[in-house]
Amino acid sequence: MRPALTDAVGRLGTEGAFAVLARARALEATGRDVIHLEIGEPDFETPEHVAEAGIAAIRAGETHYCQTAGLPVLREAAAASIAASRGLPIDPERVLVATGAKPFLFFTVLATAGPGDEVIYPDPGFPIYESAVRFAGATPVPLPLREERGFSFDPDELESLLGDRTRLVILNAPQNPTGGVVPEADLRRAAEAILQTPAWVLSDEVYRRITYDVDALSIATVPGMLERTLVLDGFSKTFAMTGWRMGYAAVPEELVDPLVRLIVNSTSCVPPFAQLAGVAALEGPQDAVTAMVAEFRRRRDYLVPALNGIPGVRCIEPGGAFYAFPNVSELPIDADELADRLLDEAGVALLAGSSFGQHGIDHLRISYASSLANLEDAVGRITAFVESL
Ligand code: PLP
Repeated sequence: MRPALTDAVGRLGTEGAFAVLARARALEATGRDVIHLEIGEPDFETPEHVAEAGIAAIRAGETHYCQTAGLPVLREAAAASIAASRGLPIDPERVLVATGAKPFLFFTVLATAGPGDEVIYPDPGFPIYESAVRFAGATPVPLPLREERGFSFDPDELESLLGDRTRLVILNAPQNPTGGVVPEADLRRAAEAILQTPAWVLSDEVYRRITYDVDALSIATVPGMLERTLVLDGFSKTFAMTGWRMGYAAVPEELVDPLVRLIVNSTSCVPPFAQLAGVAALEGPQDAVTAMVAEFRRRRDYLVPALNGIPGVRCIEPGGAFYAFPNVSELPIDADELADRLLDEAGVALLAGSSFGQHGIDHLRISYASSLANLEDAVGRITAFVESL
């Protein structure tokens, strides 16, 4: 008899960015030069004072197990940060720390939805949402993001998808993969509709600090919503700390214990030296964040018009995050083939919009967390390739 695997593990999806990165690295190993616009992480170092705080904490012996919910000093700093940034009164007892924002996505789905339940999530969207829902045995219900609405959802459409079986609504702004933000009026209408149901909300706000002239309002600020909304934030994007693996969330009271149990059953705790670096990140000088966002803006301001200058490509201006999501439906080949051939024939690694869901099929996702020189080189290569079609 052969050993078996579960159905659940067979339902897990993956992240296209890691698959394309592996293909790009294999090409590079053969001597090809590849411009990396596939991976979603800031191309900056962790701010020095933050790294130093982590190193000092290691030297001070902060290298052991610690509280599963997070060090009190970090939970307090995170609660204060959420209060200051969103005007939300957050009790530090409701703030949890995990190894990235990602575990909160998975654990929130596991804690709230199972077979027979529905979870609404943005499409195109971060692929882990759908993967987690399928793993949990619940039914994924995609909420289309509309290009003509700046890649936000239509609140009427959200209302029509909400039903008796909806257990969780996942929202994300600024958004991956589109850079879209949700207009305040739409968010209020969404909240009104959700308040008529018993659904929890997971508001993925990991790109909140990376916006250009627009504010990404949290749905938790709408009266009545904080009690049912998990406000998710992290260190990866804001402080260029992807490898530290640390994120935090302000969670509704009833979810504190289930989420702590999921964390203790899986990772036990976040390394305390990383958490102390996190305190330095939240409480220390913010000029590195300001400089990083200014640089992302400079690149966006170059990239979007440059993409619009390529015949058959149109790209709306993203209000946040560090992604452009050009529409390539007027080109003679589809976006999947385009992404494959841009890597193989032009040495530009980027993602097909389809890796973010059905509603992304006409698009490419370009991460502009790469130098302006790289972006200029990439636009030159993409233009030459498109003109050769
Ligand atoms: N949520 C979104 C929308 C993301 O794009 C990402 C990372 O790409 C994450 C969550 C996970 O971030 P972390 O590194 O904190 O786990």
